[in-house]
Order: sequence, then C-alpha cells, then structure tokens
Amino acid sequence: MSNKMKAALKNAAGTFDVQEVDRVKIPADDWVLARITVSGICGTDLRHWKKHDPDLECRIMGHELAAEVVEIGPAVKNVNPGDRVVVETVLGDGICDWCRVQQYNLCPNLYKVRMETVSRSFAEYITGPASRFHLLPDHVSDEEATLLDTFSVSLHAQQLSGLHINDKVAVIGAGPIGLAQLQLAKASGADVIIFDVVPSSLALAKALGADRTVNVETEDALSCVMEFSLGRGTDITFECAGGPSMPHTLPQAVSLTRIGGKVVIVGGFEAGMTNIEMDWQHLQMAEIKLIPSASYAFWDIYSEMEICLDLLAKGKINARKMITHSFPLDKINEAFQTAQNKKDTGAVFVALTMA
Ligand SMILES: [Zn+2]
Repeated sequence: MSNKMKAALKNAAGTFDVQEVDRVKIPADDWVLARITVSGICGTDLRHWKKHDPDLECRIMGHELAAEVVEIGPAVKNVNPGDRVVVETVLGDGICDWCRVQQYNLCPNLYKVRMETVSRSFAEYITGPASRFHLLPDHVSDEEATLLDTFSVSLHAQQLSGLHINDKVAVIGAGPIGLAQLQLAKASGADVIIFDVVPSSLALAKALGADRTVNVETEDALSCVMEFSLGRGTDITFECAGGPSMPHTLPQAVSLTRIGGKVVIVGGFEAGMTNIEMDWQHLQMAEIKLIPSASYAFWDIYSEMEICLDLLAKGKINARKMITHSFPLDKINEAFQTAQNKKDTGAVFVALTMA
C-alpha cells in the first residue's frame, strides 16, 4: 500500500483540487483503515461550494460513504480486512457527559473531532474507531449504503418527533433529507404531503410514496395542507430545506402545523446569528413545539445507523431511487455543479466513486 492517497482539497475559491496527499494511518489499537468506494455530496457541503471559507481551505471534506476494510488495529473485533462497510461519521471526543451515554451527536467537541478524523470521505482512504464501522449485507450496494447517513439524520428527527401511525405529516424540501424523511414517515404509517420547487424532485417524492406533492411556486402551501388535514393543519412538520431558506421555511412550517402540533428542525442553519421573523404569539397560544434535531447517534439501546441499515436491507426504505448521478472523484467539481443545478439536471443524490 502506498504512503500517498488521492484526495480532493478545498481551495481558496471554494472548489476542489484533486491531488496526492499523505495517506491516513491507524492511530490507535481499536481503529480501522478502509479504502473508500463511494462518497456522497451532502446539502451542507453544497452550501459551501464556491464560497471562500478560510477554515475549510486545504481540508478534505465529505461524510457519507461506503468502504472496504483494508487494515485493522490489534483490538478490533467487529470487522476484518475485505469486509464491505458503511462508516458512521458522527464522532465526538469520547470523554464528555454526552459521549459517555452514547449521545455523541451532542458532544461539544463534535465538529472539531469529526473534521479531523472521520468527516474526510472525498479521498481514497479513511480511518476511524471500529465502533463506527458497520458491516454491509451482500445485497446492499455501496451506492445505497452511502445514503445511510442521510436516512440516519432523518430517523433521529422522526424519533424526536414521536410520530404515530396515521399522523398527518408535512415535509418541507424534497432533497435527500426530505425524501428520507418522507420514506421513514410512510414506513411508520403516516400520511405525507411534501413541498419543493424542483419538479423532478417532487416526481421522485411521488414515486417514493408521497400522498401529495406540492410545488410551492405554483400552488398555495397552506390551502393544500388544510385540504390534506381536514382543515386542522399537520400533526408534525419537518423542515428539511435549511440553509438560506430557513427565515422563510421555518415560519412556513409553523403556519402549516395544527394547534398542539410539532415542528422539527432537520435542515441546517448557517453558522452565527439568524433572524427568524414569525408569528411567535400564534406559536405560543397554539402550543406548537419546536424540536431541533442534530445528526444522529443512538436511540435507547439501538444505533440509529444500524436501524436504517436494517430497514434498507429489508427493503422498507429505498436508497437506489434517490441516486440520480455518479462521477469519479477526479470530476468532483463537475459533480458539485450537477448537484447545485438540480433544476436543470434533476439531481437528488450525487455519488462520487473512488474505484
Ligand atoms: Zn464528547
């Protein structure tokens, strides 16, 4: 094995330069080294695309991946060289109060630790603690497994929402997270109405089981929801658009939700202060609960990624339909461009292949 590896590094312009860097090595007895086979482009990565961001310069990014184990530390028991795996990239410091009880998604050092270790999948190799490596069954492809991070984010949000059978659910945003949210809600027996502005994304939502799809550029979201929910509003609304749309979509989510209902914030906020103007008095008088959701970890005794892997292996959720494009790592800039121009390209989940 060479001591070098190929990796995509962020440059000052916010695009990527693919070059040779030092290959990662196993730093501890219970860590694993794996060769990445497929990596996915996430909405968060996309928001930083072509933006000058000194903190990310010369860094390897990416956190959705499947891989093949090539080397294990002497204390590793759960995987062996040659195993196909999905790698969970939520990793905390392992010593804080939250990591101690497996709520590592809430670790105060999460961002720093994961950026320096496992959140580096736009490369040939990755290393991480054995606990974050999950074996893939033969019939789950590497491409499908790359979407398990996305499904796990949505699963955590659904667990926090307390969703029940036959609930009326709205999903704002039909990107990968929104489509995962839709599928999990359907698998749990809810009725789902989903909103977006990209016709190809809404068509995919329909194919994945949405009861009603709404293009908010041509239809009125509120009247559609009222018709869908017998005039009450939804029991639960998941905000899955995030980013710069939040000042608009979060108040919209509240307006679509019934008295006593819940709004779950799944889409990511931008860093720093965000002003959200909304009818706070209505939110208070209607006792609408705002539930923020952050990544995923464990739910009770179960790893949320393993729950999603089990659902995928049993065919209860569909990842394959969500993968619209695939590019080799060398064409990462083209891949990002395709993901960003989704209205023209019809992109939903864009995969990068390493082989
Ligand atoms: Zn921690």
